[in-house]
Amino acid sequence: MHIVVCIKQVPGTTKVQINPETNTLIREGVEAIINPFDENALEAALVLKETGGAKVTVLCMGPPQAETALRESMARGADDIVLLCDRAFAGSDTWATSYALAQGIRTLGAVDLVFCGKQAIDGDTAQVGPGVAEFLGWPVITYVRKLEVKDGKALIERTFEDGYEKIEAPLPCVLTTVKEMNVPRMASLKGRMRAKKAEIKVLTAEAVKADPKEIGLKGSPTRVVKIFTPPKKSSGVRIDGTEPSVAAREIVSRLKEQKVI
Ligand SMILES: Cc1cc2nc3c(=O)[nH]c(=O)nc-3n(C[C@H](O)[C@H](O)[C@H](O)COP(=O)(O)OP(=O)(O)OC[C@H]3O[C@@H](n4cnc5c(N)ncnc54)[C@H](O)[C@@H]3O)c2cc1C
Repeated sequence: MHIVVCIKQVPGTTKVQINPETNTLIREGVEAIINPFDENALEAALVLKETGGAKVTVLCMGPPQAETALRESMARGADDIVLLCDRAFAGSDTWATSYALAQGIRTLGAVDLVFCGKQAIDGDTAQVGPGVAEFLGWPVITYVRKLEVKDGKALIERTFEDGYEKIEAPLPCVLTTVKEMNVPRMASLKGRMRAKKAEIKVLTAEAVKADPKEIGLKGSPTRVVKIFTPPKKSSGVRIDGTEPSVAAREIVSRLKEQKVI
């Protein structure tokens, strides 16, 4: 079985600053990590490798610095690491990212299963997993919390807010994982040594036969009109230690003052 895990390198903080002139994230000086949900995706793939035998390829679209995330994946047990890297991909929105990743997956030969995280903690759209599936023409099952592969089928538990559903899907398919699925492992020392020396396969837009009209800013139908940090909410006013009728009158008077009612 050949499993591909899509990982994104994201800032390791929620306190990301926005450049007010360019409306883009300021990434300089911010530690980069593997998107946490993608760590669960990788762990799920490594468990399948250990229990049933599989080759695990990790795929990332990003700048050359994404090499760190790929080496970390190999240190944890991935067999191959592939970086989709080309200036032509810069500015890709979720549509163009999904297309580029799908093209990357097509060049990796026969693939049985693709894992993505539920969502990226910076972009947060949760669109790329389903987007990749759509471009590949494969089924997608999102929010996967449990998985077994048996007789060429994926037997899945898919999370809901108040429960789960059991789904059977044919292979190949795309799955997106939630953090309840597993606890990602740490890299071993031996793994780190191997990853340090490993060769990263770098694929350009041309190598994955990407249509230039479908990638980068040109291929991105989304336009970011404005990005801003919402103003901090005030802590509000507490009215306690008084009769409910008095408190109610106080609230009404304050709401009138604020012209809410
Ligand atoms: C007009 C526009 C221009 C943009 N320009 C840039 C830019 O120049 N540089 C930039 O970094 N971002 C850019 N972005 C943001 C970029 O489009 C998104 O970060 C990206 O498409 C992924 O979306 P997301 O973060 O919401 O991922 P989600 O859909 O939330 O991610 C779900 C899962 O998909 C997989 N995944 C997502 N992205 C990748 C990836 N790159 N490689 C491998 N797997 C992945 C992971 O498994 C992840 O857990 C731009 C966005 C727009 C709208």
